[in-house]
Amino acid sequence: MKNIWLNRTDLLQANNYIYGDGYNADFYYDVLNANSIPIEGFIRAYSAQKELHGLPIVELKDILGENVNILVTQNKWMDVLDFLSEVVPENNIYTLGNWREGEKCIVCGEKHTIKAGGAFLPFIEARMFAGNRVETAIVHCSKCRVYYSEYRPDDEEMARLYTGYRNREYQEQRQKYEPSYTAEYNEWLSDSSVIMQRKKGIYDYITNFIKDTSNWHTILDFGGDKGQLFPDEWEDKQRIVYEISKPDVCEGIKLVSDYSELSSYLPDLIMCNQVMEHVSDIRGYFANLIKLLKEGGYLYIEVPNERWCVDLEYVRFCEHINFFSEKTFRELAKQFAVELVDVRISNDGLVLRSLFRK
Ligand SMILES: [Zn+2]
Repeated sequence: MKNIWLNRTDLLQANNYIYGDGYNADFYYDVLNANSIPIEGFIRAYSAQKELHGLPIVELKDILGENVNILVTQNKWMDVLDFLSEVVPENNIYTLGNWREGEKCIVCGEKHTIKAGGAFLPFIEARMFAGNRVETAIVHCSKCRVYYSEYRPDDEEMARLYTGYRNREYQEQRQKYEPSYTAEYNEWLSDSSVIMQRKKGIYDYITNFIKDTSNWHTILDFGGDKGQLFPDEWEDKQRIVYEISKPDVCEGIKLVSDYSELSSYLPDLIMCNQVMEHVSDIRGYFANLIKLLKEGGYLYIEVPNERWCVDLEYVRFCEHINFFSEKTFRELAKQFAVELVDVRISNDGLVLRSLFRK
């Protein structure tokens, strides 16, 4: 992936196509045109149009194999970028965004990363960083396909953000910066119908691969809040929630808040629901979950399947500092020598689920 401005001379003698739809393509065209960068045509996924600005709209497959450059307008959508780098040599992909070479990837350890500008949202600066500005960037790894914030909050910063998570003070502080984060919305997040749906999703997914769970004895929900996400079907199991914040847990759930206690349980299943997108040390966190698991036991990890915008060269982070793809979980399984039973995006597109076996 090359930055258009840093490699401008390469583009002056080339067949350049703008890849992307709508406003972005028009915007790009104007910027490139004003800078005398020649454009041969457009590639648009969702258009029946044949022409734009007097130039042809072609299909990617029709120009592949020629010596062409693709100027991506939608580097902000991870799928576009990943899709393109599979079919077009990376050397021929350009972006207008200020992507530059990054450091070693925090998941796979390889130096296949690019990074662009990023910042934490004002609410995060106020709460997590006690009002201080912290510099960060959005990093993307083309090998394991993860996106993450370059700045990794430390334990003290994490504690500031998550102590009293979603309580009244949290909600009020957040609403000051994000008017739509109302008390009603905050309530809705733990609404029973939402929880029911999530529980069902977890149960259906796991039992799709493990038909017989009758011999399971212990299930651990790591970072599982009050333990509200244990499927009802597993009521007969020992159900443990690990939470350092010591919440009032649901009936029948055992709370463990002392980490050293955990190693004695050897769970048959560990669930980690929508936590990994928040953690600083992805590898360490994963390694720890595997370590706690019984030999032959299963690990279920669920993260949001997020599609978000990097305005041409900027992303703003809220609480999520990691954005995973299927490939990221494949990479983790490989690194820690565990079996990846399955990884997939849910049918409703909302979450990315993965199941591992130790
Ligand atoms: Zn990587």
